Amino acid sequence: MSGPENSGGHSVRLGDQTWRELEGWRDAVGVMPTGAIEQHGPHLPLAVDALLVERIAEAAAQALEPGATFVCPTLPYGYSVAHLDFCGTFSLAPETYLHVSVELGESLFSHGFRRLLFLNGHGGNVDLLKTAARTLRERGDDRVVAVASYWQIAADSIAKWRRSGPGGVSHACEMETSLMLHLFPAHVRREQIEDHIPAWTSDAILDDLQGGGRVFPGLRVADFSPTGTVGTPSLASAERGQDLFEQIVTDVHAFLADFRTWEVATMVDTPSSDA
Ligand SMILES: [Zn+2]
Repeated sequence: MSGPENSGGHSVRLGDQTWRELEGWRDAVGVMPTGAIEQHGPHLPLAVDALLVERIAEAAAQALEPGATFVCPTLPYGYSVAHLDFCGTFSLAPETYLHVSVELGESLFSHGFRRLLFLNGHGGNVDLLKTAARTLRERGDDRVVAVASYWQIAADSIAKWRRSGPGGVSHACEMETSLMLHLFPAHVRREQIEDHIPAWTSDAILDDLQGGGRVFPGLRVADFSPTGTVGTPSLASAERGQDLFEQIVTDVHAFLADFRTWEVATMVDTPSSDA
């Protein structure tokens, strides 16, 4: 019989494996995509964050050799209270989200896996996922847990790719709309695309995934966007979305190859005594 990494082709999805097959993957990196079900303006569907991060995770993992990494089922629901004024948005309470992410990570570690990346697709989840990562690390010395949104890993590529100025890449924006036009074109209501960059009266505030303002305002999205869109989706195109998707997948793939080598004990160079 062939080994687990050879049977049934090369599926990177944890859910496609049997428990016996997965037992052979304990050195692999576990990737958990985290999304949201929340409004994305009048032109994009509610599942954007979950759809995009899952595609990115699977494509990046697929590019590594079989058995190097697996992708857990996407956690579709997120911490989305700021969007609850818009119909169809779901949100877990922050305490619940923290519990869920810690408990899912704990399940993985209980089986002897050692590396987990929360690959995030919704900005509102980040602070809680960082808390989850620290909580999981507290409970085990050989655990390596990392948190990153895909647009952070691909920040340099996105900075070169974007055409919008400050505020153009935020929510249902130039980036997300381009990726959707490439990956899920039938889901985009092109005639409903409408830009919106809030005209903040304080220069301390800026809402952009590539670097916000100096101060984070704890607002509801409805306080600063009547449609839910924040950014310039009018600059989006399927062609540019394909270009960006390929760059993001390359960047996430490169990070996964790096992350595979991480060990808590060797993450920092210790100067030699004769130095
Ligand atoms: Zn989004």
